[in-house]
Amino acid sequence: MPRCRSLLLLPCILLLALSPAGAGPLKTLTIATGSSAGTYYPIGAAIAAIMNASIEGTVARAIPSRGSIENLLWLERGDVELGIAQQDVTYYALHGQEAFAGRALGGVRALSALYPEMIQAVVRRDAAVRSIADLRGRRVALGAQGSGTAFNARQILQAAGVLQEVRAVEAPFEEAMTQLEQGNLDAAFITAGVPTRVIQALSERVPIRILPIDGPLREELMRRYPFFSEASLPAGSYGAPGAIGTVAITALLVCQAALPEETVTQLLQALFANLAYLKQAHPRGADITLEAAPHGLAVPLHPAAARFFAARVN
Ligand code: GLU
Repeated sequence: MPRCRSLLLLPCILLLALSPAGAGPLKTLTIATGSSAGTYYPIGAAIAAIMNASIEGTVARAIPSRGSIENLLWLERGDVELGIAQQDVTYYALHGQEAFAGRALGGVRALSALYPEMIQAVVRRDAAVRSIADLRGRRVALGAQGSGTAFNARQILQAAGVLQEVRAVEAPFEEAMTQLEQGNLDAAFITAGVPTRVIQALSERVPIRILPIDGPLREELMRRYPFFSEASLPAGSYGAPGAIGTVAITALLVCQAALPEETVTQLLQALFANLAYLKQAHPRGADITLEAAPHGLAVPLHPAAARFFAARVN
């Protein structure tokens, strides 16, 4: 794979670009991702590496964050040019609904659908908790403040009728997994592409179980929130003996509405010429394809992205 080899040359390319003989000023692009132990981070880092190796005069970098809501706020403020965010959260942000009531963010556009993120409610296998309803009275990590994870956790607990009765904690992924391992928490929610590194790592230290979100609860959730779709974690995920029903939402690559058209076109050209590199960064990278990228979007594409896909996808 010649592309991968050229990515290994990245430090040399950067040095050349930074040398006094380099042509013109460098353009810096920052991609807001998520916890370094989640899935946004490895995918965002791979996108940055592809851009660095393919677009002359550009230095891209992925930075960690607390998740979707924080990424969208950073984009709106102009702190970052690019980000990864859940489609449900992005839609509500654009329309000033749900967590964004009264503070719509107008400056965000979609570049591409990426992959499905699954709602994973993690418990220790030795816990006497078998369902979301069993979380009544339990200590539950919803996710970090500013994450799409915490946003979804509240929706799910509410639909199950236990939101007011759980002892809710806001904690980032790594901290939630440590507290779960030590027995200080009973459950932790994570909305992320599977396998999620931090859950995988916990399952190698202590047996875990993902609580099912299926049957009437799943129907009710999909009725209330049309962004949820039916999904299942494959058998074998984190040591599960069988498949586990849950709901999923789509992760999007998003950008500032004001990002120059040329930058968007170069980025998409580079991305879709290097899909093999995304795939080796994380298994969910395999879901990113030219055909799937513009489909099922509820968030408007940046005009240059709309033109890019119109010229290539039927
Ligand atoms: N979807 C998560 C959130 O916005 C982040 C997932 C990840 O880091 O992979 O909270």
